[in-house]
Amino acid sequence: MNMKQFILKEAPNAKLNVSNFELQEVDLPKPKDGQVLVRNILLSIDAANRTWMQGRTYRDQVIAGDVMPSYSVSEIIESKDPEFKKGQIVTAESFWAEYSIVEPRDLNKCPDNISLPNLLSLFGIAGLTAYHGLFDVGKVRASDTVVVSAAAGSVGVYVGQLAKAIGCKVVGIAGGDTKCKKVVEELGFDGCIDYKNANLVRDLKTHCPEGIDLYFDNVGGTVLEAVLIRMKNKGRVVCCGAVSQYESSSPTGPRNIPGFVITKRLKLEGFIVMDFKERHMEAITHMKKLLNEGKITIVEDITEGLQSAPEALVNLLNGKNFGKSMVRVAPDPNEQKMS
Ligand code: NAP
Repeated sequence: MNMKQFILKEAPNAKLNVSNFELQEVDLPKPKDGQVLVRNILLSIDAANRTWMQGRTYRDQVIAGDVMPSYSVSEIIESKDPEFKKGQIVTAESFWAEYSIVEPRDLNKCPDNISLPNLLSLFGIAGLTAYHGLFDVGKVRASDTVVVSAAAGSVGVYVGQLAKAIGCKVVGIAGGDTKCKKVVEELGFDGCIDYKNANLVRDLKTHCPEGIDLYFDNVGGTVLEAVLIRMKNKGRVVCCGAVSQYESSSPTGPRNIPGFVITKRLKLEGFIVMDFKERHMEAITHMKKLLNEGKITIVEDITEGLQSAPEALVNLLNGKNFGKSMVRVAPDPNEQKMS
């Protein structure tokens, strides 16, 4: 039996293009002792996928010829590990492929009663990154004025909604009028600034006249530079990502570091969501409660078919997604059973 997979054909120099990938047809792999064969159902499309091509990060660099790695929701088809059983739904360190061989250490059993897309959005990387970044790193307080960039992206939509749920004032920064309107009208942010068509320093002053207590930074670069100018003394900056720099051949940092960090006594702290693995269940329970109380709206951007994975990643890097981007590779087996 054959299956389809994508390799990174050529590493990008700057802007990623769909032509950097190649679709291949290969034999279905067989799991060895201790391994598991999974059918991929949903692939998580993440800005981090692009950083993996730049060099070694918290994982090995993806180089030309590699099958493109991806976080996924998958179904176990064959298991040669006693911990995992055929038919189980798992999240996995998988690949852009119809089927993948995965080591048990790269598999996680999923909590019950959560829809599969939600395992990647609110109850997956997106929501957990927002939750731990806001509460564990940023130590958010109800009295805070919070600003979040990439506000209409997968992490940003939950940062804003979680902060609103505890009573903060929340202002987003996003690209384009349509996204900004949606963030305010559909997700309840107090305001949203279109960074592509704004004087950010001036508009931040209009939206946050008293200054900013907590900035959740997903983008780095010139947006971070502008926000630092409007931080209150003793403000906190949660460094989550720097997507504005991932495709740049000459990355630029904010020019006011360390100057403003010193004079405003700011605290900047980075994190990786897996740092808080032990607290994921607690976060999921809290977010489930907020969802049931109607305080959170789930936002998912699902593209159909493995063949669309390269385009979905290129689109995300160009700001064409709203909420959590993912690619459906196979139907949900639970829905198939019901129909
Ligand atoms: P996402 O927010 O769903 O999509 C990325 C968004 O970034 C795009 O929609 C685009 O929205 C914005 N963007 C692209 N280029 C930009 C630029 N030059 N300047 C400003 N904004 C730009 O993607 P994601 O995968 O969830 O990642 C969001 C951020 O979280 C990334 O920085 C990622 O690395 C980080 N992250 C960190 C962790 C962690 O553990 N630390 C975990 C997950 C994600 P606009 O239309 O608004 O430009």
